Parts: sequence; C-alpha cells; structure tokens
Amino acid sequence: MGRGFEQRISTAFDLPLEDAGCEFCGHCADFCPVDAIGFRSGRYEVRPWKMSKGTTVCLQCPMGCGVTYEVHEGKVVTAHGYFPSPASGGALCKRGRFNYNFVNTPERLRGALVQSDAGQLDPVPVDEALDVAADRLRQVTEENGGAAVAVWGGDMLTNEEYYLLQKLARAGLQTQNVDSVAGPWQLPLYEGLASSVGLGAMTNPLSDIAQAKSLLVLGSNTLETHAIAAIRARKAVREGAVMIVAHPDRVGLTKNAQCHLAIQPESEGALVCGLLKVMVDEKLYDQGFVEAHTQDLEKLQRSLEKISLADVAEKTGLSEDALREAARLYASQKPACLIYGADKAREPANETFYRMCVALQALLGSVGVPGGGVMAMGTAGNGQGALQFGACPKYLPGFRSATQAASRKVASNLWGADVPGDPGLSWPSMFEAIEKGQIKALYLVGVDPYGLGLPERKVESALAKLQLLIVQDTAKNRAADFAHVVLPGAAYMEKEGTAVNCERRFQRLAPVMDPPGQAQTDFDLINGLLRRLNGSLALAGPAAAFAEAAQLVKDLGPVSYEAVDGLCWPIGDDGAGTERMELEGAEKPIKFYAARL
Ligand code: SF4
Ligand code: SF4
Repeated sequence: MGRGFEQRISTAFDLPLEDAGCEFCGHCADFCPVDAIGFRSGRYEVRPWKMSKGTTVCLQCPMGCGVTYEVHEGKVVTAHGYFPSPASGGALCKRGRFNYNFVNTPERLRGALVQSDAGQLDPVPVDEALDVAADRLRQVTEENGGAAVAVWGGDMLTNEEYYLLQKLARAGLQTQNVDSVAGPWQLPLYEGLASSVGLGAMTNPLSDIAQAKSLLVLGSNTLETHAIAAIRARKAVREGAVMIVAHPDRVGLTKNAQCHLAIQPESEGALVCGLLKVMVDEKLYDQGFVEAHTQDLEKLQRSLEKISLADVAEKTGLSEDALREAARLYASQKPACLIYGADKAREPANETFYRMCVALQALLGSVGVPGGGVMAMGTAGNGQGALQFGACPKYLPGFRSATQAASRKVASNLWGADVPGDPGLSWPSMFEAIEKGQIKALYLVGVDPYGLGLPERKVESALAKLQLLIVQDTAKNRAADFAHVVLPGAAYMEKEGTAVNCERRFQRLAPVMDPPGQAQTDFDLINGLLRRLNGSLALAGPAAAFAEAAQLVKDLGPVSYEAVDGLCWPIGDDGAGTERMELEGAEKPIKFYAARL
C-alpha cells in the first residue's frame, strides 16, 4: 500500500487481516524473501546462527505435516513448513506453526516423583520411580490378576511406543485393557472402511483432494482441525470444483463453498443417507462403475426403500428440496471427494456411517480414482498408528483379533509370553470399571483425562479410587494430583520413531532436541518398566520394536525401519506402498451395505 516513503506491506484494500481472509497460519512468513513478513518469536533475542535446526513430523493432528524447528538452548524458537514433505508440501496450520509452548513451558517435568508415606509427591531419580512403579504393578496383578490393570496412551506417541505399550499390557501385565485416546473414533473408521473397501483408512492421498471436481465436507471444522485437507479443498475450488460444506455453523470453509448445509449437530449420518436415497431414486449414479467394481447394490437399494426423505429432512433440519439439490450438485461433476474429519468434541461416528460414505462415493464412481475417495480422518496425531500397532483392546498389532486363540498364539510365540484371552476395555469403559473396583491400577502415558470432555467429578472420583496411578507426561497435568508415581516424558519433537498419518503414510520422526533434565522418551520409560517386570520383553530401541512389530503387521511388507519413510500401507511384497486404493486386480472390491437413518 502507499507510495514512496508511505509504502508498506498490507492486505488488499488495507482490510484488517481477519476480514481479508487470513487464517494466521504464518505460511507467508516462510516465503517472504526480505523478511518484511517474518516471525516475532526469537527476533532480537537469538542470533540465527546460534540456533540449531531439525526436521520431524508434527503429531498435533492426523495430517502429519513435515516441520522444521529452530531450537535454542533446549527451547523451540520457530517452526517452519518442510517443503519436501509428501503429506503437507511445506504447509503448516496455525496450531502446528505456533503451538509449541508445551515443550518450552517451565512446567516441564524434569524428574520423577513418587508419593511419600505422608501423601506428598517427592522428587526421586527416574530409575527409583520405575522400580516403585514396577513393584506396585506387580503387586496389583499378583493380588487381583492382570485385568485389574489398565494402560492408556495419548495421541502423540510413536508407532514403536504404542507397540511397546500394548506389549507391556498384554505380555508384561497380562491385561487386554489397553487403549489410546483416539481409539473410540479410530476403531469404527477402521472397521467401516475395512469391511466395505478392504482398506481401513483413507482410500486416497491428501494430495488427491486438490484434483477433485466436486467436494462434500462433513464433520469437523476442517480448517481448524484437519487443515491440510481444507487447504487442498480450497485449491480444488479455485480450479473449478463445486463444494458443499455440511456443518451446523458457518465454518471457515463455508465461504469457499457453493452450498452450506446448516445441518443439525451430529446428523451427518442422516445427511449421507438422504443423499444416497436421492442418488438411487433419481439414478444419478455411475452404472458402469457400480457394475464393474461393486457388490450388493440391492442391499443398499432395499434399505433405502424403507427410508423416507421426510424423515431425513426432520433429522438433518434441511428441507427435502435442499437435500435433492445438494445430491444433484454433488453428483454434477466427477471425481467427487468426500472429506470427513472426526472431532474429539463429538460422539464417534459408527461404522455404518463410514460404510454409507463409501457407498456414496462408489455410486459416483469416485473410489480408487485420482481426485475421488473417502477422506476419513481421525481425531489425533498418530491415532492410526495406535490402532495399527495394537494400542487397542480389540486388536493386536496388525489388526489381529485380540481374543481369537490363533492370533493370540502368534503374538505369544513371538513374545515368549502368554497373551490373556479376556476381552479388554476401551478407555470410556475403564472409568466404569474403576468405579466398580474392577480396575485398581492405571498407567497413563501422555493422557490428560481432564481434557476429554468428561465431567470433572467423574474423572476425579475414578482417579481417587485407584490403588495405583502412574502418570507419565511432559508436564505435571491435573491427573498427577492423584498419582502415586509421576514419570517425566518427552514431546514428539524429542523422539525418534515412526508415525502413520491419516492417509496411511509412514513417516520417520527424528529428535530435534533432547528432553529436559532427567526426562526420557515414552519408549525408554515403558521399556524401563518392561525390563523390571520381565527383562526378556524389553527391546533395544525403536528400530528393534519396528522390526518385531513387522512380524505381526502384515501391511508393512518386507520394508525396514529405515526404508518405510514416506510409504503408504499396505506395502506390497515388492516394498512399494499404496498411495491410492487399487481397483484393478481385485474382484469387485467395493461392498455395499444397508443404509441406516
Ligand atoms: S499465508 Fe497464512 S498468515 Fe499469511 S496471509 Fe495467508 S492465511 Fe494469512
Ligand atoms: S495440520 Fe496438523 S499436522 Fe499439520 S501443522 Fe497443523 S496440527 Fe500439525
């Protein structure tokens, strides 16, 4: 704006940033060649050449963006997008860009704490705290059996940490009570998609969204919680795609959409059901694709005959005409891409919902093709890895049934320890079991149970009833007030390992800094417990854990820890990943199921 000495950087028409459509992502500061737009943090405080740089993967949401941190004296100073990242191509959202104070905070745990006889948490060396934790876990299992213990992991662990955590639970403590925070959202996503397309996650890579000609965006406030998908959707719209955003509120993406469906909260399932009905009734679907690649269309048709559009309208809060128009608009251009982001603040969708999403996309001939797909995204950074590497009461690593004798035998042969047959509990059920006195010991790894929308009194009442609570985290969270042992953990940028993002892509994490004081990675702390409980179960490090897990996780194919970086599972015998679900080579790989309102 302005001329001569009056010249300055501003928005078009000098609008305030909010009105100019700025999302405050900071991406422009990565590009500005003269630092006219730059980062304030560290400016005039740290000389650039005094900072070290390291690149890793952001685990604050399931996009898994590549991020380069600049670090000075054990603190993150700035975060920059990593341009070669196949997941994000250099983009970061405002959370990944600016939310790193959880690693810098003076509240970081630098040492371990153990409750004294007087009920105080006293500082002790980490080894001593691990001794106490292991002794007391052993005591609880000897007195009450393994089912009296539960293990619960957070969102930002590596695959190897989830693997080790479930191994500790199943082989070390003889309990199937192991879950991750993301589990209740990730499990139906896996089961719905696996049963209808044989692939329990997103069918296409995130980059495909930009090639879509028609978009339906549902679920989370995508720009806030699944930003890379939203950025790609906006790119598709700029290139001529039509976009429908279905959300109770006018969210960030709404202003780029041709159609905003202001649906009732939690009525996405009803909306998809209604769109299916209109498409089948009006024969808007791709008959050639359906005949060539799908089975059981009649099942879907029969179920839709029993559903009235008036009922759909009532559930969604939309008129029947609006539903018809939306279905016609969505079917008007292909490939069509359905984006659904799960939201931790809301009830998990069930597997029928995910099957209906697949059905919608299959009717439009938009599964397994570039620019199409079911972009179903979980709630958490490495929720996909948690499920795949066994931090789930229902599945052992590699989605093997946790209760079937044959799959338990495979795992127990590998570990040299029995795997219990009793079904385990998901974390919401763990609270009930604690209240009933069935669970007496709980090991929290990177979990703040107060941050999950549960009534505070319920959390407090459960934590207070425990005979043993071990809290392992980067900072002393509120659960630590009830803890008997507190262990100092590390943040994801201080860890080595792998993670899987929502597009099924494995990525390697590399530590950009050391954990402070005596803090250790979750891997080392869990391994420390394993060593004390049964030394033969401990592993040499993340590479050894990955290699052992690969014997259970068939989707990893023959690739090594070093070679897996960037590959999307399933990985074939030739070591090649699967970026996009393949239609060829499989006999009618897409299955329709009955729709449900
Ligand atoms: S790149 Fe991000 S911060 Fe910069 S103007 Fe655009 S939206 Fe705003
Ligand atoms: S989109 Fe997700 S993974 Fe990417 S920077 Fe933001 S929070 Fe991190």
